Amino acid sequence: MPYRESSRLPLFALAILWMLPLIMVFASLSQGVHPLHAADKPARLFRAGAVAMDVTPVKFPVIINGNMNEVLASEVVDRLHARTIVLDDGTNQAAIVVVDSCMMPRELLDQAKTLAAKATGIPTSHMLISATHTHSAPSVHGCLGVEVDVEYAKFLVPKIAEAITVAHQRLAPARIGFGAGRDDVDVGCRRWLMRSGVAPTNKFGGKQNDLVQMHPGFKNQKALRPTGPVDPEVPVVAIQTREGQPLATLTNFSMHYVGAKPISADYFPVVCDKLQTLLKADKNYVGLHSNGTSGDQWLMDYTLPARRMYSIDSVAGNVAQGAFEAYQKIQFYDWVPLVMEEGLLEVGVRMPREDEVRAAKAIVDGFGLKKPRTSEEIYARETVLLSEMAPTRELKLQALRLGELGITGIPNEVFAISGLTIKRRSPLKHTFTIELANGCEGYIPPPDQHALGGYETWRARTSCLEETAEVKIVSAVLDLLDLVTAARADEQPLRSEK
Ligand SMILES: [Zn+2]
Repeated sequence: MPYRESSRLPLFALAILWMLPLIMVFASLSQGVHPLHAADKPARLFRAGAVAMDVTPVKFPVIINGNMNEVLASEVVDRLHARTIVLDDGTNQAAIVVVDSCMMPRELLDQAKTLAAKATGIPTSHMLISATHTHSAPSVHGCLGVEVDVEYAKFLVPKIAEAITVAHQRLAPARIGFGAGRDDVDVGCRRWLMRSGVAPTNKFGGKQNDLVQMHPGFKNQKALRPTGPVDPEVPVVAIQTREGQPLATLTNFSMHYVGAKPISADYFPVVCDKLQTLLKADKNYVGLHSNGTSGDQWLMDYTLPARRMYSIDSVAGNVAQGAFEAYQKIQFYDWVPLVMEEGLLEVGVRMPREDEVRAAKAIVDGFGLKKPRTSEEIYARETVLLSEMAPTRELKLQALRLGELGITGIPNEVFAISGLTIKRRSPLKHTFTIELANGCEGYIPPPDQHALGGYETWRARTSCLEETAEVKIVSAVLDLLDLVTAARADEQPLRSEK
């Protein structure tokens, strides 16, 4: 009953209430502030800062992961980095980090985020940190027959935090734009449907009668067709100084990796170097090339009659050219709203049955303290390890909106079809996904792919989520995209004039 209550107020109080807006205007004028700004939104200044923090190991040899068996390496072929952009729209800040690593567990990344949050004030929920998925960098996550390089993992945590801190210190007025190019050459689905009885089966993979084989080769009469689509898109986020100098780019491509001699970052930073040359960018420029949704993707098209020649240089050149062509058409904005949401999703684990664990233990006892070597030994050990782990996992999912662009972060190796679904169903004009972000929870084949079997479905710590996990994850990520789209929807981006 506000009217009745106010009518009881003494007359002088009413007079003061009536005069309050006038008093506020005079108060703000006396402080030298324009009266309109006192009630207005904060100044629409967009800022960005970037750095490529060297994370090359300093103690050798290091354990390399990404293969079935452990590899030790002491030679640095090319340097590894944690490439970082910090963005600030005046209301929110966010950090995006792309690390030259095969995969990084959530606990390690959460430690780095906590350190970075203390130093910068950016909330940990506004930090997206992903691994490129290079298969020639030190191991910070146990995977198949490979252990963690504990020394390197300890070294990496503060380095990532330092990268965010330095990028934050470098925040300066900037402008931003988005585009999408293509590389139709270096795409292919590596999973192929085979005639029945042809695809290899894994005794401890939790599957039988697999119909899918990875890399079937050329002119293979027993190979029927690829099991999924490709995504040739090369999205580009371009950040420039207010004067139009390239400051940073974030590109993305859905292709597993090329392959390199360790220790190497593979083709990922070569894309950035080539783009830097094409853009005639100065030494302050920092490129980040992230992995898209490449769980079932590799650069070779097995429908071709024979092997196509490729190299790190050729692939990076094609991707950079695609990004560069898109860059030419980018409309820049002096300001866009930055909104980020994070969600936790609990999903079940495909736990091995008791009889499977018993059979696996018999094999593991056989090789004792030695490292597993054969595929049977490796998957037997995975079965035992999984049986000792929790039956559910909590996944950290993210969505970031920069004006009309959406970026999602998923801690898995995501199939191209899932990435395409997110792009198609996103409420935003442009959307792309960075995989292996904020953790590494393994492959997420869609349910129909689980039914076909094949390597990516074989049960291991890096492929153990329930068969409907992909459906739940895609749906949760779309919900986050809806949230960031609805938030601050009335704040329109400011187009740059030139
Ligand atoms: Zn992989």
